[in-house]
Amino acid sequence: MLVSLTKVMENAIKEGYAVGAFNVCNLESVMAIIQAAEETGKGVILNYAQVHSPLIGMELIVPIMLDFAKKATVPVCVHLDHGSSIETCIKAIQLGFTSVMIDASGNDYEANAAETAEVVRLAHSVGVTVEAELGHIFSSNIGVGESSSKVETSDNCGDVEDIYTDPDMAKDFVERTGVDALAIAFGTSHGIYTKKPVLDLDRITAIKKKIDIPFVMHGGSGLSKEEFQTAIRNGVRKINYYTYMTLEGGRAVKEAMDKIKKDDNIFFHDIPLIAIEAMKQNVIDAINIFSLK
Ligand SMILES: [Zn+2]
Repeated sequence: MLVSLTKVMENAIKEGYAVGAFNVCNLESVMAIIQAAEETGKGVILNYAQVHSPLIGMELIVPIMLDFAKKATVPVCVHLDHGSSIETCIKAIQLGFTSVMIDASGNDYEANAAETAEVVRLAHSVGVTVEAELGHIFSSNIGVGESSSKVETSDNCGDVEDIYTDPDMAKDFVERTGVDALAIAFGTSHGIYTKKPVLDLDRITAIKKKIDIPFVMHGGSGLSKEEFQTAIRNGVRKINYYTYMTLEGGRAVKEAMDKIKKDDNIFFHDIPLIAIEAMKQNVIDAINIFSLK
């Protein structure tokens, strides 16, 4: 069933685990994620990132996301990931997204708060939930990221206090904007890690002491089970996950193709099925970790 972000996280908030938010940019990823959600019996978030528009346009994939969400036997939220402007969020709401992320974190604090508050006002008037970002979650400079529109960097550089989310600022931001969920920066980055990330997992607890709303982890792919579960125990309730899911689809297709002999026929329609199965298994593993199994 199609639900909002608050609704899909309802059980997770009550029981203290996290819901997976998986990016989709084709029919195969939608099918893999919905099958994994139904097999595990857990609600799930279908993310569409604005930066994936060169792969598939929002208008084209949203009806597919909505159709699968409505027919699913588990709660499914259809969420815009990293919306870069108020206009993009409005367009997403008009297309039927039940939740949007406004990412104005590249702006200064005041502009981020003002833009986020405006999106919250518009979205809440039609029952749509809003996620915003405070701090800076970078993107790694190689590979296909769950991606963000921000500065490309291979690791977390710069002054930690300027990059990681400040607990007092988070409290002020949430009170001023009324956001439903907040993406916080504590050392994760989008895409494939080129170096082991230095995580400040205690920062999540410090922010939670100031403000009790669901926190979102971006750039989760590549962390250990222990790192994920500590972040969840400290207050993360939504985890964005994409890179390792799509890598697994690619790996499975490559493995299958490597077995094909020179004169064998290969039907194209069999190739997506290989990717769907592999991505489904990867998403099941992620959902189990996020459910503290
Ligand atoms: Zn992200």
